[in-house]
Amino acid sequence: MELFFKSSSRECQPCTACCDGWVQIAVNGYRAYPGHPCPQSTGAGCDDYEHRPFDPCVKFICGWRADGSPLPEWMKPNNSKVIVLFNESVWNGMPVDVGIPVGKRIPPRALNWLQQFAESHGRALLHSEQIVENGVYTNRQAVCAFGPPEFQQEMAERASRGESFV
Ligand code: SF4
Ligand code: SF4
Repeated sequence: MELFFKSSSRECQPCTACCDGWVQIAVNGYRAYPGHPCPQSTGAGCDDYEHRPFDPCVKFICGWRADGSPLPEWMKPNNSKVIVLFNESVWNGMPVDVGIPVGKRIPPRALNWLQQFAESHGRALLHSEQIVENGVYTNRQAVCAFGPPEFQQEMAERASRGESFV
């Protein structure tokens, strides 16, 4: 299945999931990460939308906003609590998608949808859970692999060596 990365007619607001640091970004030198949102985020939009920087704000398009996105309306990140990035890498010719929670973990309904989508379209999925220490989000995630057993095994081996997944 081919997926495109141009922006669609779908609008971000009131979602601010990427602005709020669930995808770790740097905006004008400010690092946003879980629990540490961009200072321009109101939680329902950007308070200086007209002047937002091109990189990452205009440039970043999550899987829900991508043109031709297979994600249904309810999978908008502020509602589903997952940010999906399609085609983040390729494993043995198989496209690998990534699901990042908006919050500690991806809710079961959204995770089931992603797993069924991966299974029925011959794709692999990496999905993460945010690591919380002493009640505070760290900027680290525990990653799980979904897909063929060999893919899961390879990702587990990479994790044990402290290597990146994508
Ligand atoms: S996560 Fe997607 S829909 Fe939400 S603000 Fe970012 S690009 Fe827009
Ligand atoms: S500047 Fe605006 S669009 Fe960019 S990350 Fe911050 S709140 Fe989001």
